[in-house]
Amino acid sequence: MGGLSLLLPALLAAPPVQAPAPAQVHARTPDGRAVVLRLQFKKGLSLEARHLPKAFLGPGARPQGWLSFDQLSPAGKRWALAAFFPKDRWHRDGVRHVVAYPELESVWTIAALFTGHGQNYDRLMAENPDLPEKLRAGDVWQIPRPLLSVDLGGQSREPDRSQPEDGLDDEARVAAYRALLTYGEDAQGKYAAYHLRKGEALYSSVVMRYTDRVDPKAVNDLAEEIARRSGIEDLHGIQPGQLVKIPIAVLADPFQPEGTAALAEEREVRAEVRRTARVEAGPKLQGVRIVLDAGHGGVDIGAQANGIWESDFVYDITMRVRRLLEEETDAQVSSTIRYPGIGFRTREIIRTPSRAADILTDPPFANDGERPNAVSVHLRWVLANELFTNFLRHKGDPKKTLFISFHADSLHPSSRGTMVYVPGAALVPSHFALASNRAGRVAEMRRFSRVSFTPQQKLRGEARSRQFSEVLLGALQRANIPVHRNRPIRNVVIRNGAKWVPAVIRYSLGATKVLVEVANLTNEDDAANLRDPAFRERYAAAVVSAIRAYYR
Ligand SMILES: [Zn+2]
Repeated sequence: MGGLSLLLPALLAAPPVQAPAPAQVHARTPDGRAVVLRLQFKKGLSLEARHLPKAFLGPGARPQGWLSFDQLSPAGKRWALAAFFPKDRWHRDGVRHVVAYPELESVWTIAALFTGHGQNYDRLMAENPDLPEKLRAGDVWQIPRPLLSVDLGGQSREPDRSQPEDGLDDEARVAAYRALLTYGEDAQGKYAAYHLRKGEALYSSVVMRYTDRVDPKAVNDLAEEIARRSGIEDLHGIQPGQLVKIPIAVLADPFQPEGTAALAEEREVRAEVRRTARVEAGPKLQGVRIVLDAGHGGVDIGAQANGIWESDFVYDITMRVRRLLEEETDAQVSSTIRYPGIGFRTREIIRTPSRAADILTDPPFANDGERPNAVSVHLRWVLANELFTNFLRHKGDPKKTLFISFHADSLHPSSRGTMVYVPGAALVPSHFALASNRAGRVAEMRRFSRVSFTPQQKLRGEARSRQFSEVLLGALQRANIPVHRNRPIRNVVIRNGAKWVPAVIRYSLGATKVLVEVANLTNEDDAANLRDPAFRERYAAAVVSAIRAYYR
C-alpha cells in the first residue's frame, strides 16, 4: 500500500506560497552556440530560443523569446534534457534520472518531461517503489524505455482513463455506474461487488465514484479499508477484473440497494429534474437576478497547493464572470464579497494573497479573523437572500434567481477538473435561524437570518440546481476545460463522518444555487491552469455561456 499512503504527507503539508527560485543552466548546442535553459517551480523547463538550431524547434515554434519544453522537436527535447540534467544516464533500456533540483522537480515534473505527461506519475512511482514521493537530491529514478515519451524513443502516451459512461448525462451515467454493481453478503456484512476495468484505480473508480468521499485522506483510508475487505494486498498490483467489495454503509445514495429510503429519495429528485420545465429569459438574460460569491477571502485564503491558493484565484474568476455578465447581458448582478484593494477589477498576475476582504452587508463585514470566519460564510447567504427578496418585491420572477459560489478544492492529485455541489434536498432543513448575536450590527441580520423550506421547495431547489450544473459542465467541456471524471455533480459533502451541504447553498433562497469547485489545486495541471489569466477568462466565458444556455 506504500504508494498511496506515501502521497499523504506531501499533500497535507501546506506548500509555501513563495515559490523557490528557478534553476538556470548554460549549455552549448551541437554547433557551439550558447543557450540558457531554465527550470521554474511548477512551470517546467524552458529554453532561450534565439540560438537554437532549426532542427530543435517543434512545429510552429519560432526562434525568439523563451520556448517551453513542449515546443521542441524530438531532437530538441532529447538535447535539452541531456543538457539540463548532465548526470542522467541514457541507455538502451531507458533513462536513469538523477534528481538535481529537489525543490523544483517533482514526480509529476519528471513524468511530464520524460514520459510526455504528468498524469503518468503513478506509473513512474510504480516503477520506483522504493523511492519516496518527496524528492531528495541524488535519488535515481528509473524510467524504462517503454515509459519514455514517443519523442524520446519510448511508447508512452497520455494515459487513457476514458470509460464508456463518460459521454452520458449525469442521470444516465449514474444509472450506468449502478448497472456495474451486484449486491451480496458475506461474513463481514452486506456489500456491493464491482469488477475493476482496465485503467481503473481503487481510489478514483471505486471510492470517488461510488461513495461521497472526496477528501484525499478519507479517500485513501477508505481505499485501504476496501482493499483489505476485498483481500487485495498490493494496491499498485491490482489487475483488471479484480473483484472489489464496497460496504453498503459507505455507498452514495444512487448506489444503495433496491428498497432503501436513500434510493427512493434519489429517484424522487431525478423525477423532479425531468418534470421541471426550464425558465426562458432570452440571450440577454432579461429579468434574471444573479448573486455571485467568491469563496474565502481576507484572513481565510482557503485551500493551497502547488504554489497557489484558493481565495484570490476564484475571486478573479468571479470578477471575470461579473464583468462579462455586465458587458453582454441585462441580468442584474451583485457580489457578496469585495477585496478593497482590488475592487471588482480582474487581474492578469496574482502574486501574493490579498489579506483584506469585506462581505458587502450593511455595514460591510470585514473577514479579518477578529470575528469567527464561520460568520462570514453565513453572511453570504443572508445577504444574497436580502437581494433576492428585494428582487421579488419589485415583481421579479422567483424562478429567475441564481446563486453561484466559486471555490477550488484540494483532492487526490490524480483527480482534476470542475466539480459542482447542489443542495441535496434531504440535507436542507425545514427551518433555520442564524444566532443574531454573532453578526451584531449587520442590518441584513434583522430580517434575513431566518429561512424555512417546504419539502417541495427543497426538491425543486435540488432539481433546478442539478439542471444548471448539467448545462454548466457541458459548456466547460465544450470549452476544453477539464471536468471531474467521477460524478462531477454532488449533493452532499462528507467530512469526519458527518453529511452536510455547504451553508451558502443550503440556506439560499435562490431558485438555482450551486457551489462550483473550479479546479483541484493539488493537481499540477489544474494549478497551472488557474495561474494562467487566459484560462480564468476562458472559464468565466464558459460560465456565462452556460447561464445563457440555461435560460435559453
Ligand atoms: Zn473553498
